[in-house]
Amino acid sequence: MKITDAEAYVCHMPLAEPFYPTWIPGIPSMNNSFLLVRLLTDEGLDGFAAAPAFLGELRGVPELLKVFLVERDPFQVEHFTKVFRSAKAVGIRAWFMEIALWDLIGKATGQPVYRLLGAFRDRVLAYASTGELREPARRAEDALAIKEKGFKAIKLRIRSMDIKDDLAVVTAVREAVGPDMDIMVDANQAWPIHGFGEYPTWDLKRAMTEVKALEELGVLWLEEPLGMYDYDGLSTLTASTSVGISGGELNNDIFDFRELINRRCYDVLQPDVTLACGILNGKKVAGMAEAAGLIVNPHTWTNGIGFAANLQLMGAIPNCTFCEFPYDPPGWTPEGRDAMLSRPFDIDDEGFVRLPEAPGLGIEVDMEKVRAHGEKVL
Ligand SMILES: [Mg+2]
Repeated sequence: MKITDAEAYVCHMPLAEPFYPTWIPGIPSMNNSFLLVRLLTDEGLDGFAAAPAFLGELRGVPELLKVFLVERDPFQVEHFTKVFRSAKAVGIRAWFMEIALWDLIGKATGQPVYRLLGAFRDRVLAYASTGELREPARRAEDALAIKEKGFKAIKLRIRSMDIKDDLAVVTAVREAVGPDMDIMVDANQAWPIHGFGEYPTWDLKRAMTEVKALEELGVLWLEEPLGMYDYDGLSTLTASTSVGISGGELNNDIFDFRELINRRCYDVLQPDVTLACGILNGKKVAGMAEAAGLIVNPHTWTNGIGFAANLQLMGAIPNCTFCEFPYDPPGWTPEGRDAMLSRPFDIDDEGFVRLPEAPGLGIEVDMEKVRAHGEKVL
């Protein structure tokens, strides 16, 4: 099989309601915006990939990389990994393209990707990953609805200027859902986006103070409490508490993760195959982490295709404990998140996300919708 051509679309799929992500303070999202790539082959198969792209800033990437892909065999993922790594050297974020190769490999062999990479499980326990900062009473109400829907765990955003406000949200939710539901919190300190709304900047002292209080509230993990390269601060914090410390969503390639693992910065590593490393490197990171006794719960907060790709990695590794399920209605819903797919992902009756049985990434991209909301750039 040979890759014969590539197409790319800059898409803006409207959300049902504006969404206010804590990690981009001051700028509401009106759309689910992404760059979609479709690789075509001489066997008539197509493979899909997508990356979040706010204004189409990635539009030239598929065209540039097409010359490295066309006429090549998509099975040579190790070879392409080196291509995507070298793209980074000239400032281009290209890892997301790798998942289209796996989609092709899966379709060519008639197998879902996770089965080609080890098939450890066919479903993963989900946690509802919320994205907005909300008042304690409102968030407690949301959490009850989330519990009612069947989720066994919820992740809250804690990004208030004052520690008291962070703890008030967690306390209200704990009181509402009771002791049985797992609660995670995300401080979004690893890669702050500066320039619009206000946000706190944590240091090690604040992280240590706050994590003590979170310990008493029975929080399972605290995500991104410090900068993504503050290896010393992270390892000190991780060693100091029984709350899990997690992060890594924008750390890059196997080399960042080698440092994070060797220095024991995190208990739970969260590489994202579309942002950080690709699926094959994600498997390698999981192997390094397994040897060190650490958990790998991939980050999924991009879009439906990114979710599908990270889910395949979860199915293929033994040291994954939870599937991040981005969910914060009314702004961020499965329908809005997975708007480019024929069917949105959902949880089953027991709160698990099932690995799709269809080959490749196991998704069906709705090209009619992509064309309706996308500009063809290649
Ligand atoms: Mg996060």
